[in-house]
Amino acid sequence: MNPATYITTSWDDGHPLDLRVAALLSKYGIAGTFYVPAENERETMSAAQLRELAGVFEIGAHTLHHVDLTRAADETARHEIVDSKSWVEDTTGMPCVCFCPPIGRFTSPHVHMIRSAGYLGLRSAEFLSLDFPRQRTGLLLMPTTVQAFPHRFSSFAKNAVKRMVMANLWRYLVHGSPAEWPALAESLLRQAVADGGVFHLWGHSWELQDFDQWRRLEGILRFMRDLAHPETTVTNGQLCRLYAPPVAVLDHAARVAKATGVQG
Ligand SMILES: [Zn+2]
Repeated sequence: MNPATYITTSWDDGHPLDLRVAALLSKYGIAGTFYVPAENERETMSAAQLRELAGVFEIGAHTLHHVDLTRAADETARHEIVDSKSWVEDTTGMPCVCFCPPIGRFTSPHVHMIRSAGYLGLRSAEFLSLDFPRQRTGLLLMPTTVQAFPHRFSSFAKNAVKRMVMANLWRYLVHGSPAEWPALAESLLRQAVADGGVFHLWGHSWELQDFDQWRRLEGILRFMRDLAHPETTVTNGQLCRLYAPPVAVLDHAARVAKATGVQG
């Protein structure tokens, strides 16, 4: 049997055009997670819009003020990480289990802060990956596959070199170095479906608008719907839960054993 295939999407920055992304995801039955800061240099959704979105999709944290964690003092970074979780939960009334560092920038101490704040998963800005979530000090790191943005080859090369993941760059070359992101997405999705893996499409709704990518996005969402089984599309949080160590289950079993006097 082939290993599992999952399809997930994520959308950063909380711009009101996220609602247009959400409408397209709904149209094609694709799940997604929206990483929303409380404030940003760009416009963000109102609390009412965010609640509407949270009724159908997952909302993740993206700091309170869209802060580059690597440029913030430790205490500021901790506050941005911890308080953005409670801000999402208070605003939406839903649990917030995933965090995405703005601009994809974070270091090891931030990973510990994110774990201590009670998040389950961290979405990075690593491109061209088909990997399942990776365990790192109790947190599940989710790389991405394709950004809905017309990157140049040099962006892929820099992204891979910076993170020392040359296998990702190799994957880009093997997939024919497509100049257009939808062609790259189709090729990588075919591989994920054939060989197993996570296909993670992500982007920014404001960028789709600025670079006129809406029609291309709709095309790839249609392709995703046609190629993948509906049950394989999950939010970032659902993906993390599938790969989380069964700590809660063990705790529960231990509690039952203690309560009933049964030795395991
Ligand atoms: Zn952002």
